[in-house]
Amino acid sequence: MFCNQCEQAANGTGCNVFGVCGKNPQVAVLQDHLLYGLKSLALYAGKVGRNSEIDRFTIEGLFSTVTNVDFDPACIAGLIRRCYELKEKARNMAGVSIPCDVAAWRPADDIDGMVAQGERYGINSQHTNEDIRSVIEILMYGLKGMAAYMDHAMILGKTDDDVMAFFQKALAATTDPNLGLMDFVSLAMECGKQNLTVMGLLNNAHTDAYGHPVPTPVQLGTKAGKAILVSGHDLKMLEELLKQTEGKGINIYTHGEMLPAHGYPGLKKYSHLVGNYGGAWQDQAKEFAAFPGAIIFNTNCIQRPADSYIDRLFTWGLVAWPGVRHIDGWDFSPVINKALESPSLPENPGKEILTGFGHNAVLGVADKVIAAVKNGAIKHFFLVGGCDGAKSGRNYYTEFAEKAPKDTVILTLACGKYRFNKLDFGDIGGIPRLLDVGQCNDAYSAIQIAVALADAFKCGVNDLPLSIVLSWYEQKAVVILLTLLHLGIKNIKLGPTLPAFITPNVLNFLVENFNIGPITTAEADLKAILG
Ligand code: SF4
Ligand code: SF4
Repeated sequence: MFCNQCEQAANGTGCNVFGVCGKNPQVAVLQDHLLYGLKSLALYAGKVGRNSEIDRFTIEGLFSTVTNVDFDPACIAGLIRRCYELKEKARNMAGVSIPCDVAAWRPADDIDGMVAQGERYGINSQHTNEDIRSVIEILMYGLKGMAAYMDHAMILGKTDDDVMAFFQKALAATTDPNLGLMDFVSLAMECGKQNLTVMGLLNNAHTDAYGHPVPTPVQLGTKAGKAILVSGHDLKMLEELLKQTEGKGINIYTHGEMLPAHGYPGLKKYSHLVGNYGGAWQDQAKEFAAFPGAIIFNTNCIQRPADSYIDRLFTWGLVAWPGVRHIDGWDFSPVINKALESPSLPENPGKEILTGFGHNAVLGVADKVIAAVKNGAIKHFFLVGGCDGAKSGRNYYTEFAEKAPKDTVILTLACGKYRFNKLDFGDIGGIPRLLDVGQCNDAYSAIQIAVALADAFKCGVNDLPLSIVLSWYEQKAVVILLTLLHLGIKNIKLGPTLPAFITPNVLNFLVENFNIGPITTAEADLKAILG
């Protein structure tokens, strides 16, 4: 195996013995094989045009290979088989056979055979030139991240033909030996553009279904009673669970990236959605062991479950871990029954934090915000967001938020917010200094806020008193970065470390064109930004 797609890549270069995330070599190689199959499928999908079965499968296949989603070899082998069936179907529909090795792909019948083939399909086989390979990796990780957002949008009934055509075009392009470095750079930039559409689609899917988020206090303590903890990003799954638990005496808590769910009118109306439990994904082993009720993951980031809670843990959607019970479809009875037979949580009220500052809420008080900037009460905005992770270097983000001057406002999103969202930041003339915009896909909302401010001040986004400090962990952060670059946003600070898959030449390109820089220390970066 060799995998370097996330920030945990072993020794800062890549996992080649066992994944730091818990991915074993068999799963890693099967995922490489699945990606190869998706490229084969894309070669034919590009010839048959839009086909909902193929497009839906492409999204699920890509999302399954995102960090911390699918750890089950049997499940990935099943996806490889299905991929081959669809590829053959597309080949028949197209009525041609494309003369190349990728198009001729046929997986072995058994898992061992698939693994043996997969050893030849790893990321290092994608190109012999390391810079081109680096940009192909950026593109592939961008596609994976975008597929995650598209999956949530599709679950809520939304899709987009142009975006799906791009998925197939970009996957097929990675097999084309005639393409050069700048071809892949343009595809990566186009990926950022398409992802803006996908994040907008998902934003609309959420707001059409549940209304625009409104500022909402969220209880961090516990309420006496039976309980289910929901971790992940999928709001539709949470809604269905809320419906099925209504009146059953079960309280529902959010974990990790589900926290922003509390801000949506269509979800907060359920009185048994009682609070947020725990913090970001990397603390799950400790937090789940202490949570006596049932727990369900609806997307990443799952880690190796401990014996102390594996019998209370469920997966849904594309998440899979061998030995963890998977809920297929929308009947959550096994989770509900497990919650009812498990011990209750105690009455233990805690602190309240605020969420629900999507663009509709923030722009609803735009006059106040603009006036505060004009009269000097707000001197600067920081967007401090992205993924959280286990490395100690991530304390930077806590320090950065703590040390940001009192006349600055911090917009935050994704699970990186757990580094500082329980601290008191106060307000500036009634505007909270910390505004939780939402999940990582709500980068869309943060972009809308930035664009509206730029319009109000008649300047470009790069001329605003706004600095972006991102924390990355996995492939959704990669595609958000591509979107920001597509929008021409410069001077982004990125940490806690730079991706292992970016070569020095590609980094130089990013620095020269976008002035991207690594984080240093909170003091030095604040001083450099604020002068
Ligand atoms: S996803 Fe990250 S931690 Fe897991 S194997 Fe790949 S690089 Fe390593
Ligand atoms: S923001 Fe990233 S790291 Fe955090 S839970 Fe979501 S996918 Fe995982």
